[in-house]
Amino acid sequence: MCSQREWFEELKPSSGTVSCAAKSSLLEVAGTGVIRGRLKNGQEIVLTNVLFIPELNGNLISVKQIQKAGYSVLFKDNKAIVKGKNKTFVLCELNSKGQYVSDFIPTVSNTFVAETEEAELWHRRLGHSGNYALRKLGLPTSDSFCEKCVLAKQSAEPIGKENRRRESSPMRMIPSDLCGPVEPATLSGERYVLTFVDDYSRFCEVRLIKKKSDIAVEFKKFLKENDTVKRIRCDNAKECVSGELQKVARNAGVEIDPCPPYTP
Ligand SMILES: [Zn+2]
Repeated sequence: MCSQREWFEELKPSSGTVSCAAKSSLLEVAGTGVIRGRLKNGQEIVLTNVLFIPELNGNLISVKQIQKAGYSVLFKDNKAIVKGKNKTFVLCELNSKGQYVSDFIPTVSNTFVAETEEAELWHRRLGHSGNYALRKLGLPTSDSFCEKCVLAKQSAEPIGKENRRRESSPMRMIPSDLCGPVEPATLSGERYVLTFVDDYSRFCEVRLIKKKSDIAVEFKKFLKENDTVKRIRCDNAKECVSGELQKVARNAGVEIDPCPPYTP
């Protein structure tokens, strides 16, 4: 029984539970596989039918299973000696806590970790590409969980069911936005960029203002110069949906039409 996923050379998913030490605790089996490795004395060992139990504390080897595989185990002089048809070796030694401990070192661990790390690195390098794209490029893939992908790749439901209709004549509906404060300010002290886009032609006009509260003055000027405008589309920013700007719009007979929140 082993809790280290990276030790497994082959791992088939499987299910079930095993009870360990404490009578009440049942541990979930996540897979069954093969672990290859060697002892410090050089003896190579292949462990088959190893249960992968992620929650297991440490790793355990069953004497019964060793016997089942055709070997016998002899406990002598604080050593657990495994005897086969044509080989005999010391598998474990007794420690001060009264446990038989093996110095078994798995051989696949390093390559597996390196592969996973490399796959994750490529995933990040290529702008968090999916495995499909990585495979197409002949790069390693991994099934590990990427939190940033989950957070960043969520998409919002579209607002409204049909495509938005564009205006059929120029300078009727004007999407507008304010950006800033921009550092550094211009030589004459402007820090904000106010945009007016004609919905029909996408013609864009940009005006610079010094402070947010100047937005109403600028709108007043704009609406005076463009008396065909009927609607201003803006976001839900305070300076757009309240106060002075509403008054300017009302006086000019223009409707302020805020778009749904957090929707560009
Ligand atoms: Zn990612």
